[in-house]
Amino acid sequence: MIKLPGLIDPHVHFREPGASHKEDWDTGTSAALAGGFTMVLAMPNTKPPIFDAETLDIALNAAKGKARCDYAQYVGAGPDNADVVAALADKAAALKMYLDMTFGQLRLDDMTLWIPHFEKYPKEYPIVAHSESRSMAAAILFAAIYDRPIHIAHISLKEEVLLIRAAKEKGIKVTCEVCPHHLFLTADESPSPALGDREASRSVVEGGLGVRVNGRKEVRPRLSTQSDVDALWENLDVIDCFATDHAPHTAEEKDSDNPPPGFPGLETALPLLLTAVSEERLTINHLLEKMYTNPKNIFHIPDQPETWIEVDETAEYEIKASGQFTRCGWTPFEGWKVKGRVRKVILRGKTAFEGGKILVEPGYGKNIRK
Ligand SMILES: [Zn+2]
Repeated sequence: MIKLPGLIDPHVHFREPGASHKEDWDTGTSAALAGGFTMVLAMPNTKPPIFDAETLDIALNAAKGKARCDYAQYVGAGPDNADVVAALADKAAALKMYLDMTFGQLRLDDMTLWIPHFEKYPKEYPIVAHSESRSMAAAILFAAIYDRPIHIAHISLKEEVLLIRAAKEKGIKVTCEVCPHHLFLTADESPSPALGDREASRSVVEGGLGVRVNGRKEVRPRLSTQSDVDALWENLDVIDCFATDHAPHTAEEKDSDNPPPGFPGLETALPLLLTAVSEERLTINHLLEKMYTNPKNIFHIPDQPETWIEVDETAEYEIKASGQFTRCGWTPFEGWKVKGRVRKVILRGKTAFEGGKILVEPGYGKNIRK
């Protein structure tokens, strides 16, 4: 049994407000604890999005009543809210900018809309950018011009990790994260359907709909090539954090004709990465840097006193969606054999998870910001 600090996930989607049939603050933070995370930072692309004082209150009120682990909530950058979100910085995890995606009120159609956010958001907090490939290069240039920290979410490509290495060597204040699914899956492999769904999926194809998009594979950034995956592993020293980008959608939604992108990840990240440690692809010290020390420093997360997790690093088992706390009901890693199981989580002196059970009530989790 090994004892580790409570892990920090700087990138989760809890779907509340607006889509709590996929997840909410209760099930999301339960999944976090079961996965060894005692601290999560929640993304703002909910319905409504979190982009001003009123919407931030909606999310924080939901969290206050339901969260079982500690947390902070991001605010989102929109076309005309730079002053508003800058004023909320002390209450927020950080600022999230969606530079490739278009999400209603969080859309930033051109670079003139980026400028006020880079100018105004307080420099003690990072701007977190969803920015892929060339947009990522543009975001790093903005960080250099405005001399402020930027954290690149979920990098997935060789060109991205190599450019971040070069930017760091120039002293630009850039950090980045990678998700387990971009380290363990490629576009060519299909995430396993949950048991029972394999038949359904086949019959739809045989029923004459022709080539059917496998909705279970849909995620943004997309799964990439083996050469990209290899580059991420070869450049792990450039990667500051492992983040799950826990983005639950129900199995029914994933198997529909219009599958939304996103994977659940809170309950599979640590077992997958501990398996990599057991295979000597990674050391336990690297894992701790990327799942505790670095996110704590980048996001200025306060100490969680009397908080730790206990992990049986020798326990071997198969990942199964059926035993998970996330509401979404599936995992892209169904049936994967892993080595390393979370046995116990102590959060601020209280046993929060043990023997496969969540032992703290909704509302036990604390907001770490003001
Ligand atoms: Zn995300």
